[in-house]
Amino acid sequence: MLKKCVKCGLPETYETIVFNADGVCNICTQISFKEEQINWQERHKMLVDLVEEYRGKYDYDCIVPFSGGKDSTYTLWYLVTQLKVKPLVVQFDHGFMRDTLKENNIRTFKKLGVDAMSFTPNWKIVKRVMLEALARKGDFCWHCHTGIFSYPMQIAIKFNVPLIFWGEPSSEYSAYYSYSDGQIEEVDEERFNKFTNLGITAEDMYGMIKHDTDLSPRDLIPYTYPKMKDLRKLGYRSVCLGSFIPWNTRKNSELIQKELGWKGDQVEGMPWELYPYEKIECSMQGTRDYIKYLKRGYSRVTQMTALDARHGLITPEESNKLIQNYEGKRPPSLDLFLEYVGLTEEEFNKIVDATVVPPHKPDYESIESAPKTWDYDRWYRESK
Ligand SMILES: [Zn+2]
Repeated sequence: MLKKCVKCGLPETYETIVFNADGVCNICTQISFKEEQINWQERHKMLVDLVEEYRGKYDYDCIVPFSGGKDSTYTLWYLVTQLKVKPLVVQFDHGFMRDTLKENNIRTFKKLGVDAMSFTPNWKIVKRVMLEALARKGDFCWHCHTGIFSYPMQIAIKFNVPLIFWGEPSSEYSAYYSYSDGQIEEVDEERFNKFTNLGITAEDMYGMIKHDTDLSPRDLIPYTYPKMKDLRKLGYRSVCLGSFIPWNTRKNSELIQKELGWKGDQVEGMPWELYPYEKIECSMQGTRDYIKYLKRGYSRVTQMTALDARHGLITPEESNKLIQNYEGKRPPSLDLFLEYVGLTEEEFNKIVDATVVPPHKPDYESIESAPKTWDYDRWYRESK
């Protein structure tokens, strides 16, 4: 059995987790700090000052990197309606955007009245780097992490827009940065190298795959963080809205549903009725969560019930029941993923096995299948 936080239930294999003498984890501690000790009025004033510093001086007041999930949608809603900024919305299309999400995006852009641009990287390179990142780190999402965080910064330079607003700060769900150090988390190159890029730069990736892939270094530009001297010259500020206003996932999702007609969706391996708003952006989310389960012995159900447990919205018994019923099932999207990267399931399991975080040990024998989501048959297939 994995050791778990007595308050939220996150296990010892969770990234950055540490337990205190009472068995409470550091994520719980920093969230109570956020709720009890941060002067949110003062933070709000900092936000207003920051926006005023840049307002009206460039073609756009700020850039909003946008996935269309609940956090970026709320961020965009807040900036446009509450702070009356003129944003440029920048979307990095990772290749797995689902139909509900695309419809949400169109509706959001129209209702808010914003300029938006989308960029889709070369699929053949995406497939190859997914395989490489999976094999080396047990995490195939390298192209998505690096693209989402680099590409909007490149656009900031190209369009000469120095202020960039992200959504929730990482201190909501990990302890790479803390609410309690009094600092505003900067979404910069340091953060990018600390955990976003899995320790693999675009240059590293080029070196890893050039021998068997027909590509040049410039094919990896979408995943390359811009040069610091160019960002400094721009005078950039790259921050999270959630560092300035208290972030409440549940309330934020309710608000965008009401104000923008934003819709949640089914996500593989999740209790759909209870958590319809979480991670609806990507058709490979189920496979990503499944890998996490094999590696670390927990997955998204545990993470969601942990959030609710911290807010007293769920009892430990209810959490355990959900985790038992839903977590660790094999998602139908795995078949598509294996087809994309050209692996058999046996090869896939072997790769994941090499990245397992002890004391967890995956048990491949007793794994059941998760049900298909309504849009499964619409997802891209190589063979069709
Ligand atoms: Zn905890």
